[in-house]
Amino acid sequence: MMCEHACAKETQAMLKEFIRNERIAYFSMEIALQNDIPTYSGGLGVLSGDTLRSAADLEMPMVAITLVHRLGYFRQSIDDHGGQQEQADPWAPEKYAAPLPAKVAVTIENRDVWVGGWLYILEGHMGGRQPVLLLDTDLDENTAEDRQITDRLYGGDACYRLKQEIVLGIGGVRLLNALDFNVRQYHLNEGHSALLVLELLRRHAYPAADLRQGESPYDVPSVRELCNFTTHTPVEAGQDKFPYDLVSRILDDFVDSETLKGLAGRDQLNMTSLAMNMSDYVNGVAKRHAEVSRRMFPGYRVRAITNGVHPHTWASIPLRKLYDAHFPGWCHESEQLVRADCCIPKDDLWQAHVEAKKALIALIQERCGITLDAELPILGFARRMAAYKRPDLLFHDLARLREIARRRPFQIVLAGKAHPRDEAGKQMIQLLHEHIRELADAIPIVFLPNYDMDIAFKLVSGSDVWLNTPLRPFEASGTSGMKAAFNGVPNLSVLDGWWVEGCIEGVTGWAVGNNDESDNGEDAISLYRKLDEVVLPLYHEDRDGWISVMQRAISKNASIFNSHRMMRRYASDAYIR
Ligand SMILES: *Cc1c(COP(=O)(O)O)cnc(C)c1O
Repeated sequence: MMCEHACAKETQAMLKEFIRNERIAYFSMEIALQNDIPTYSGGLGVLSGDTLRSAADLEMPMVAITLVHRLGYFRQSIDDHGGQQEQADPWAPEKYAAPLPAKVAVTIENRDVWVGGWLYILEGHMGGRQPVLLLDTDLDENTAEDRQITDRLYGGDACYRLKQEIVLGIGGVRLLNALDFNVRQYHLNEGHSALLVLELLRRHAYPAADLRQGESPYDVPSVRELCNFTTHTPVEAGQDKFPYDLVSRILDDFVDSETLKGLAGRDQLNMTSLAMNMSDYVNGVAKRHAEVSRRMFPGYRVRAITNGVHPHTWASIPLRKLYDAHFPGWCHESEQLVRADCCIPKDDLWQAHVEAKKALIALIQERCGITLDAELPILGFARRMAAYKRPDLLFHDLARLREIARRRPFQIVLAGKAHPRDEAGKQMIQLLHEHIRELADAIPIVFLPNYDMDIAFKLVSGSDVWLNTPLRPFEASGTSGMKAAFNGVPNLSVLDGWWVEGCIEGVTGWAVGNNDESDNGEDAISLYRKLDEVVLPLYHEDRDGWISVMQRAISKNASIFNSHRMMRRYASDAYIR
């Protein structure tokens, strides 16, 4: 096509700005670029997006690589029985991104699969720009089946996933090269992109003639120096693994098989092991998560860089105005928020919060036709609906919950998607809807369908308390609670992930349960006791005390748990070494 050719030329010109200097290549299976681009499923994608938004604000030289996911993750609706319905969520890359002027081939099942893509430019609100490559196999050269490889985020079976990961890891490195990017370091955000190290090994192979018996055919240390790996899940099932018969059918002898088994596991190809073994710098996403990862992978040095959220993106508009007035520069240096507890007048903070709460109430009215009361506290709970997140803990004892609400009324807002093949997660959604019906005469509860960045933005700023009750130690970090803190919304959460570092009891929020093994019964009792004896009395009977907690959530949590701090740590600890 004429246009394609002309557009590609324009993209070439746009790329010039980005290929001049050395960059960090950031690989992630999902990136939340903006709300109307459905290339993310949850926390991992939002974190990748916040990573790039901070990199843009801080003018760090990066380039991100992900798949185009033309059909998105999925669009969620809820049927009359509380069942999750899933629809494809297609989007048009040509509306947001420019076609790349290069394509490369990867070998899948012994045939060439061509990988092209799109240049999306993430523009920060302070003028910084970051290039994002959206890899796409929907090209004329490919078979009908191969054209669908980059369609669905976390869709299909193991075979489909392996093909996607070949495109991401191997295709990604080749495309960076074809476009003349000058890569200083690779950052593997979770294990999905770990096959990129195999492409790097091939590029660092010793000439066969120089090899002696038993020596590795690859310069492994040189490749390791190039790689950084961030692990995100302490859940075994969350780690990608592929049987070797599948790997050899799809990928053939891409690298020497003894080398591969030595790096990725004897029994099956474990992407986490491959990434761990091939990265000089490995980190977990909170201090507790790094400890848990060290126990899971003994003998590895796993550092901790605690996650953060992007300041400007996650502060509500009224809160942004308040921060602008009191701390000009907070968008670049969020540490300034440390003074929030002394410098932001209580009335102003409360007014700004009430404004954000009204925006949430309006959204609920619009989407669900239910009007919540702005005078009463709203408990917010929203995240991926997975069993370990225990969205049902709050409903462990309905009689007790009724009794608490009779003394001091409150309202609840819920949201979250379950992965289409996660039956336990879908059952949770159904169960939540049953509880909503059972409690209809006592507690107003709404479930907002199709949780996305926009809903998250309104929820974390418009709720009064942000609830998180995961099963320890499976919450690697959690980030929605940090978004709440940016809005002066205190957390009531299980001590896991970031909250181990963020919670100062009664000062920044409250802990649920103790620090030991989780027990549903005991955790529920602790949650009810905190609500009944501490949180609701403070909200209803000591507004001044309540606003003090809000101020300190900002000064002691938001000043630390932001993605600018996180990216400066990646720069100093991982990228420059
Ligand atoms: C922040 C966010 C998440 C992650 O929430 P957690 O509390 O970390 O589980 C998931 N989905 C969306 C849309 C988000 O904005």
